[in-house]
Amino acid sequence: MLKSHLNFTLLEECRKCGACYEVCPSCIALPGYDPRAVIKDILEGSYEKWLESKHIWQCLECHHCLEMCYQHYGFEDAMTAMRTIATKKGLYPPQIKRGWAMFEKTGRLGEPSKPGRKKYGLPEPAKSGGDEIKKLLAILKNDTSGEKADKG
Ligand code: SF4
Ligand code: SF4
Repeated sequence: MLKSHLNFTLLEECRKCGACYEVCPSCIALPGYDPRAVIKDILEGSYEKWLESKHIWQCLECHHCLEMCYQHYGFEDAMTAMRTIATKKGLYPPQIKRGWAMFEKTGRLGEPSKPGRKKYGLPEPAKSGGDEIKKLLAILKNDTSGEKADKG
């Protein structure tokens, strides 16, 4: 499953290099966050244990590693792939579930703070687009059920 998400040839280079560890804010600030260990286990086929780890959710997607990387490939890709697989298996933190439920309902991942906006003289937040999101999700759901029916 991982091979469809990741380029193992580039990942092998990553294992040899490891330079991003020094520029990654999560590596610097969060004890135990180390994509080098995740990449090693991915390459050795023993990544399953990371799917339930909080660490795969601690990547900030700040793209520092991508920007610094001589092969424009990064720690980030490995962590994203792990989150994608974890999500497909239902192994995500409760905050993700709550965030998704809110997105489905409102089209937002959080409510803008009205007092905060007022304090800084910002206008009323734009309409969320929640109704459009619901329509799009319904279309997507129908598309997916069609695919499932085709596969029989
Ligand atoms: S994208 Fe993730 S792995 Fe890459 S530097 Fe930022 S926090 Fe670290
Ligand atoms: S992402 Fe690039 S720079 Fe960072 S460790 Fe991997 S190969 Fe090295």
